[in-house]
Amino acid sequence: MEIYIDEFTRDFPYELGSDMKYIETIDHGAFGTVIHVLDLSTNQDIAVKVINKDRTRYSYIDKLKEEISILKILDHPNIVKFYGYIETNNQLLIKMEYIRYGSLKNWIKKQEKISEEQASIILRRLLSAVEYLHSKQICHRDIKPANIMLSRENDLDSIKIIDFGLSTQNFDNLINNDYCGTYIYMAPELIEKKLYFNSVDIWSIGVLMFILLNKGKHPFYTKGDNRSEIAKKIKIGKINFYEKISPMAKHLLLKLLEPNPSWRYTASQALKHPWI
Ligand code: ATP
Repeated sequence: MEIYIDEFTRDFPYELGSDMKYIETIDHGAFGTVIHVLDLSTNQDIAVKVINKDRTRYSYIDKLKEEISILKILDHPNIVKFYGYIETNNQLLIKMEYIRYGSLKNWIKKQEKISEEQASIILRRLLSAVEYLHSKQICHRDIKPANIMLSRENDLDSIKIIDFGLSTQNFDNLINNDYCGTYIYMAPELIEKKLYFNSVDIWSIGVLMFILLNKGKHPFYTKGDNRSEIAKKIKIGKINFYEKISPMAKHLLLKLLEPNPSWRYTASQALKHPWI
């Protein structure tokens, strides 16, 4: 057993097995810290989400175990790969593929302009991953640029969806009634606390498509808006475009940001759209 302490978590040492060499701390999330590690048995870089069980409520640990059970069954080129987990008395370690080039959120910030061609590559990959998830009755529930990462620099085909912490698998008619997600990416039916389907992920992809084509601007949120202002805009669903976009892109966008979930495109329908 080797113990590492980093500058942010001095009193929370990582206990890694002797087959893992700590390299650096990547980020601190809501549930734990994600670190970059060298797996000495395979000589491969991996990412490990470390959760300190003493500091985490039982309900969160159960949620993390649900995240593990979902990650376990996933195998898609645009979804982070799961390599296993280790549970000790104090910690839960989730081993994953290491995704090197940061989040799509940071990538978007760095771009002066994103072309429709670039946006369509991201959408195609994302929709293909979400079509796969939905075929397994899994709803991600937190699709947003911060949860999409780039494996290779400037290779948009290499995007990967991460963070299945809010995901759920529902075999009973796909209806969910727990309300979670990131507010500004939430579909109107979620905001209104109605029963909802996997199509909430498609709405979030629509928000992301708008952001890509409008220089990072959000369709329903401007700085300083409070929750009720955001909710009002999402419920009205009126979209103002900031940039000139092609009629074809606009057509698809409106099918993704369709307020009525039964009329909203599915991932499979969107993948057949000529803009994609
Ligand atoms: P939150 O919900 O607060 O974002 P979380 O505890 O659910 O956090 P994640 O979102 O899964 O944790 O991870 C936190 C951060 O760690 C991510 O935003 C990303 O920067 C980084 N990260 C997560 N997984 C990987 C990975 N496989 N490779 C590289 N970095 C990763």
